[in-house]
Amino acid sequence: MRLKDKVILITGSGSGIGKSTALLFASEGAKVIVNDLSGVGLETVSEIEAAGGEAIFIQSDVTDASSVAAMVDQIIQTYGRIDVLFNNAGISGVGVLHEIEPEAWDKVINVNIRGVFLPSKYVLPHMIEQRKGSIINMSSCIAEIGLARRASYAATKGAVLALTKSMQVDYAPYNIRVNALLPGTIMTPFVEKYLKNSYDDPAAAIESLKKRQLSEELGLPEDVALAALFLASDDSKFVMGSPLYVDGGAVFG
Ligand code: NAD
Repeated sequence: MRLKDKVILITGSGSGIGKSTALLFASEGAKVIVNDLSGVGLETVSEIEAAGGEAIFIQSDVTDASSVAAMVDQIIQTYGRIDVLFNNAGISGVGVLHEIEPEAWDKVINVNIRGVFLPSKYVLPHMIEQRKGSIINMSSCIAEIGLARRASYAATKGAVLALTKSMQVDYAPYNIRVNALLPGTIMTPFVEKYLKNSYDDPAAAIESLKKRQLSEELGLPEDVALAALFLASDDSKFVMGSPLYVDGGAVFG
């Protein structure tokens, strides 16, 4: 078991990639803290427990400082440590820049960047004290390639990649690794909603997405979960500040 007894917080793990990762990490022996905005995370915990794993659910909004601080306090009171933080929670933002309403812009920036800042801010003091930790930040291959009508979302994922590198330099002296995941198109509720809201013919949109990558298949949440497992475990002990592409070659598409 590659994560035996590691205490791992995964934000936004009531759905999609976060949920898949929570299930995989628990099957590898981790004690998983499932976080989400609403009770949707309880289902993830039930599935983990049904498979014989260990998990608790903490409802918290990753953009709310006092809520995140309370979540981290609860984890420390329960387990005494946090070994891995996966900053996964995120929302989509669609539209060309001049058509984006300022409030919609702020919301995407808030969830996707502040939502990485706050859990990191409150978890890091514990990792510093432990002199060990792994933080995984959810970026996207959109940080490196232009995609139509995704201005606000691309801005946030580029920021997360830059933040990852900066964090890595600052926290390397404490034996804390900080890496980023850069998925391509992964079929989750997040993407299904985007396709449904943005295209008259979502099936045709899926075919055109496939043409923009090297793989003939779109990614699955499990593909990203396996990459997260590598970054969470000590198998990646020499991997620091890296962007890990899980995109079927979309950056070459
Ligand atoms: P998803 O919508 O299935 O899951 C995201 C979860 O985050 C949801 O359960 C949601 O409730 C939760 N969440 C949203 N705002 C939150 C908040 N303020 N506090 C706590 N939880 C919150 O999405 P997904 O596709 O699994 O995406 C997960 C992450 O992966 C996101 O950061 C997304 O940007 C990134 N990503 C996804 C893809 C893709 O193609 N699906 C590609 C690249 C990157």
